[in-house]
Amino acid sequence: MPEVKELAPGVFSMTGLYNHDHDEGVNAGFIITSGSIIFIDAGMSSYSAKALWREAQSRVHGEKEIYLVLTHHHPDHSFGMGYFVQHGAHVIAHRETSKLFHHEGDKYRDFIIERYFHDPLKAAEVLGEVRLTPPRTSIAQDEVMIVDEEEIHLLHVPGHVMGQLCVYHPESRVLFGSDAIYSGRPPDTQYSRPGGWKMWIGQLQRLKDLPLDTIVPGHGPLGDAEIITDNIIYLRLALGRQNRQLYHVLKHKKYGKVLELSLHNDRSALFLARQGFVVTGLDTDKETGERWVEEARRENLRVHFQNIDAYEYTFDDRFDIIIATNIFHRHTPDENEELLQRMHSYTQPRGIHILTAFTSETPTSGATGLFAPGQLRELYANWQILHYEEGYTHIHTDDDDPEPHRHSVAVLVAQQN
Ligand SMILES: [Zn+2]
Ligand SMILES: [Zn+2]
Repeated sequence: MPEVKELAPGVFSMTGLYNHDHDEGVNAGFIITSGSIIFIDAGMSSYSAKALWREAQSRVHGEKEIYLVLTHHHPDHSFGMGYFVQHGAHVIAHRETSKLFHHEGDKYRDFIIERYFHDPLKAAEVLGEVRLTPPRTSIAQDEVMIVDEEEIHLLHVPGHVMGQLCVYHPESRVLFGSDAIYSGRPPDTQYSRPGGWKMWIGQLQRLKDLPLDTIVPGHGPLGDAEIITDNIIYLRLALGRQNRQLYHVLKHKKYGKVLELSLHNDRSALFLARQGFVVTGLDTDKETGERWVEEARRENLRVHFQNIDAYEYTFDDRFDIIIATNIFHRHTPDENEELLQRMHSYTQPRGIHILTAFTSETPTSGATGLFAPGQLRELYANWQILHYEEGYTHIHTDDDDPEPHRHSVAVLVAQQN
């Protein structure tokens, strides 16, 4: 159910509006000034639009000027716009959005309906009437609107899409982040490419410098500046083509010593070195290690390589982060237990382990050290589990098994208490 919240006098969020795509729905909002209502996004259906409209109207008396800021063209934010236009709203958007709605509004609507609903009748039932019309005002960069002597900042924040806008209300220190900011989950990066994600990170750094009390993200629960940091971390991982598991490392550690038990199976080591961590990498294959060191040297990163099997390695230092990816199944349970014990004793207080291990749910030829489902988590019962999941690898072939196959795996991220 959508929820309305007054974040500051006259500043409202409406969260959890209907969205075809995400469980948590989509968020919008409105600001009431002495003579106007400024809506931020229109929701995905004419029913959402109507709900927003009613919530705002129930809090004002008499006629008001109506503005609607469309943060970008995506259907969950814009498809309700017709309702506002019908009620005389002055629509404002970035010129990228305007261009699309000017020339191809109907085509875009039909494309979305075909893609997500397949059936126009079903779509009409869910969305009501969708009319995408050119906004009255287009902006190309940041602009400050003065409405009844109140400042409303329209910020151009390209990244998610090129025409992305955020709305900032300095007096209440509320930021309507739209899809520049996601809360409780990684940002949606599918509409742009790595160059765009880089731009996005730069824009988020700029938003973080604003005086902020509350952020209304495009999706997910309300938050504070912390959720911007989370988005930056996820985008950095996307740029480095890294596993999302590393989110926990970057969230909790800014620097420290990393031990990677098998360079061969993982590509986190260089990424973490680039983020400023000092990384020790082990591998039984000398060439793998030498290539790794050379690449690190070219970038002046601090890394050490030891040409040794993790099970033979003499720990002589404590680490902040230890990573072990798919090394356990070739060893016996006793050997694994011993290695895990050593890893535990050579971990700094509050240190983090990231482990991926094959489980016994699917057979793996020649494997001696498969974990039972749930077993890995039990082994870390005294630690704080930051992430645990069981799933499958991609289907592949390898030297041990030329038939296409996949492995069941457990992934654990845990922090020492
Ligand atoms: Zn979007
Ligand atoms: Zn969205």
